[in-house]
Amino acid sequence: MGTSYKYKCDECGYEEEFFVGGRLMTKDYKKRTEEAEEELRSAVLYGKYGETVRQLIKNEREKMYVNCDTDLYQCMECRQFSVQIAKEMSLNQKDFTLTIEFRHECPGCHSTLLRKTRGSITFCPKCKMFTAQLVSIGKF
Ligand SMILES: [Zn+2]
Ligand SMILES: [Zn+2]
Repeated sequence: MGTSYKYKCDECGYEEEFFVGGRLMTKDYKKRTEEAEEELRSAVLYGKYGETVRQLIKNEREKMYVNCDTDLYQCMECRQFSVQIAKEMSLNQKDFTLTIEFRHECPGCHSTLLRKTRGSITFCPKCKMFTAQLVSIGKF
């Protein structure tokens, strides 16, 4: 099941719909997700994200949960939306859950992307005003 988010801006007429997730929907999506998870695991084990994270994954391998579903992100610099594969790992311990989220780069300006907080209002990618509204959430 995937989710669609539709944003609309009354100031400039911007309107766009984004589709994320869909893990159970197609074989292709599942394959891509699994590949992304594997890639992330190996990158971490090769020390791409630093020694602390590497040790953690190495020692707690069985308890790590990797999430590489797609999600909607927005760039805080140029305000562009983009659908990216989430790169997230979490470790469930007795009394806490540790979540590591890896940095995403904006395809447009290379700034850091933030995962959309599902707020109903955000900056418009077109006119850059704080006027873009989440008008509908759908399932596909
Ligand atoms: Zn950007
Ligand atoms: Zn606008």
